[in-house]
Amino acid sequence: MSVRAYFATRIYTAKLTRSNWRAFNQQLLRQCEQIRQDDRAGIKWSRANYPSGFTSYGSMDKLHQWAPAFEKLERRIRPHVRKFADALEFEHSERQLAMTDCWVNIMGQHAVHGLHLHPHATISGTYYVRAGTNAPGLKFEDPRLDRYMAAPPRSTPCRVENQTWVTIPAEAGQLVLFESWLRHEVPANPSRAERVSISFNYGWF
Ligand code: FE
Repeated sequence: MSVRAYFATRIYTAKLTRSNWRAFNQQLLRQCEQIRQDDRAGIKWSRANYPSGFTSYGSMDKLHQWAPAFEKLERRIRPHVRKFADALEFEHSERQLAMTDCWVNIMGQHAVHGLHLHPHATISGTYYVRAGTNAPGLKFEDPRLDRYMAAPPRSTPCRVENQTWVTIPAEAGQLVLFESWLRHEVPANPSRAERVSISFNYGWF
């Protein structure tokens, strides 16, 4: 007999750079805080859509095109996206995957980021600028959850590939990549320490 895994869902994690990431994160953090200070439209958008947090998702979502620290971040993310695309065996010799959107998320205490996916994108991800020990991770949902019908619950603990939810811890300096159709959320931040991340999309057209 054989029981094999098909239709794999892959999540890529890596340290963005081997050295110097602390200094780079300081630079990014200053830039993120500056954006929060200056982005009036983002403050207004966040007040309505992102309680206890700030995000430039609704206002400044192309930061890689004009903010030098974010341009640098994109150059550092790019080789990881290429590696992930290779692991997924994407045929991307004709058309390059390119960053299409890039925005800041600052989650204060109790801020929550509800379940969502990233439409009109191929590969999405997050880079952690600041994440304290209690900072919530990125929680992914099994994409087949809406078809489970009469599937019984899984034993606890069960193997990671059989889990219905998987949480990747938030860690400063760490990069997480996933296919954009994979739904995810960030549970409420229990800590007073702000959780700062930069999210982005890559597309192939
Ligand atoms: Fe997201």
